[in-house]
Amino acid sequence: MTKYIFVTGGVVSSLGKGIVAASLGKLLRSRGYSVINQKFDPYINVDPGTMSPFQHGEVFVTDDGAETDLDLGHYERFTDTNLGKFNNVTSGSVYQKVIEKERKGDYLGATVQVIPHITNEIKSRIVGATKQFNPDFHIIEIGGTIGDIESLPFIEAIRQYKAEMGYGNAISIHCTLLPYLPTSGELKTKPSQHSVNVLRSYGLQPEILVCRTQKPIPKTEREKLALFCSISKDAVIECRDMKTIYEVPLALEEQGLCSVALKMLGVKEKRPDLKSWEKLVDKIKNPTKSIKVGIAGKYTKLSDAYISVVESLKHAGYADSASVEIKWINSEDCVDYDCCKKALSDIDAVVVPGGFGVRGIEGKLNVIRYARENNLPFLGLCLGLQCTVIEYARNVLKLEDANSKEFDDNPVNPVIDMMLDQKHVKGYGGTMRLGAYDCHLKKGTVAHKAYGKDVISERHRHRYEVNYEYIDRLAQAGLVFSGMSPDGMLAEIVELPKLDWFVACQFHPEFKSRPDKPHPLFKGLIDAALKQKQKGKN
Ligand code: GLN
Repeated sequence: MTKYIFVTGGVVSSLGKGIVAASLGKLLRSRGYSVINQKFDPYINVDPGTMSPFQHGEVFVTDDGAETDLDLGHYERFTDTNLGKFNNVTSGSVYQKVIEKERKGDYLGATVQVIPHITNEIKSRIVGATKQFNPDFHIIEIGGTIGDIESLPFIEAIRQYKAEMGYGNAISIHCTLLPYLPTSGELKTKPSQHSVNVLRSYGLQPEILVCRTQKPIPKTEREKLALFCSISKDAVIECRDMKTIYEVPLALEEQGLCSVALKMLGVKEKRPDLKSWEKLVDKIKNPTKSIKVGIAGKYTKLSDAYISVVESLKHAGYADSASVEIKWINSEDCVDYDCCKKALSDIDAVVVPGGFGVRGIEGKLNVIRYARENNLPFLGLCLGLQCTVIEYARNVLKLEDANSKEFDDNPVNPVIDMMLDQKHVKGYGGTMRLGAYDCHLKKGTVAHKAYGKDVISERHRHRYEVNYEYIDRLAQAGLVFSGMSPDGMLAEIVELPKLDWFVACQFHPEFKSRPDKPHPLFKGLIDAALKQKQKGKN
């Protein structure tokens, strides 16, 4: 029977609940148990796909084409599992379903209310995900901070679910912050006590407290927390700030988080196998080389907007014992070519990531031109591929007016056009080409060598594509189309094999990189940059 672990957060937002939920998943997996993670998000958007990355950070895309919260990226990276649309539930999607049912007449005669209709729908999402994966453990993180009005239906639903599952089958973990007051030299427990009190007023008593803290928790504070929050002393878990997020599972293991949870759930303790993870963390903490990689995008003020790209670059570095420093380059600052050159002068490689809309495009084109003309290792992602093709068409094919229909309604040379099956699409939510599609690799190309196979599957999120009518001309001018859709119509990867690393893809490889299994395209970029740096030194 599946056992349930609910994770809530209190005191402040951005506590890293997602990392705690992902880390616990990792610790259970390391004991040989199967685990799924699910995220409840209390906002009214049906999914985060329509939100600005400035608001919400990255939209993480799953194999089955769901646009989800970035915490799903953490879950996948920590537990090495592929999740899907059942793993992210928003208030918007819950209300949409309930209202749909109401209109159909499913509740005929009833007054439709938050309790029981909304809460029942939330509970059915828990059951749905359990049924799909049938895991030993189902970890559910509730977004937001305890006390928020909008998360109340979720809290009530998990209160009911916990009660229905019965004692020993479901527990909840509350993550809080212990602020440190330098003037008195103390860690303060009061905000956590208040937060647990609020949780209790909703009928939910947490079994485990995970406390974010800068300093070790003294015995007296630990006892105070246990006593006033009605939690056993060994279930007050310290979670210190770590050098890397990948160290958090090891720190929580040392604190006994997983063992305590297993005991409470009446499940046999097993010895965890964390050897390879420990090795990974050791490598991360003791790099022998360093490298600086630029990310030239327009959402650079919020690093969470490109979180999977950043993680993928770091993963590729880990494999080479190299630390990767990110330089954020606002593409709007690169519109002037001299400024662009200056911005790229101190980096070892550059990534042009995905994005939407015309703002910053001319700057991205300059970045790509510089990378191409100066053999700066380059990786283009989604919009990054589209810009690569525009740049090549303009500066090599001399189609100076080449553009994408996304940026210009009627360009003379629309080298990037809207996909045929997107032309009739109305509305924005979940309507792009989304999720995993196969791509065939051309033998002997850089991409084929990097992947080491003929057919790959990668995740997509786009409306536009390379205009097929220009592919021959671009190819004749030297741009290699190394990856195509199975029907040969859609360009998936382009490359310039004469350069050390110049590759761009229509898909998002960053969603499939794992800390201990870097993605081949990121690995290729980092390897090339390291090699160049090494050569420069010699
Ligand atoms: N805006 C482009 C498109 O819709 C690229 C999307 C992206 O980078 N995810 O095709």
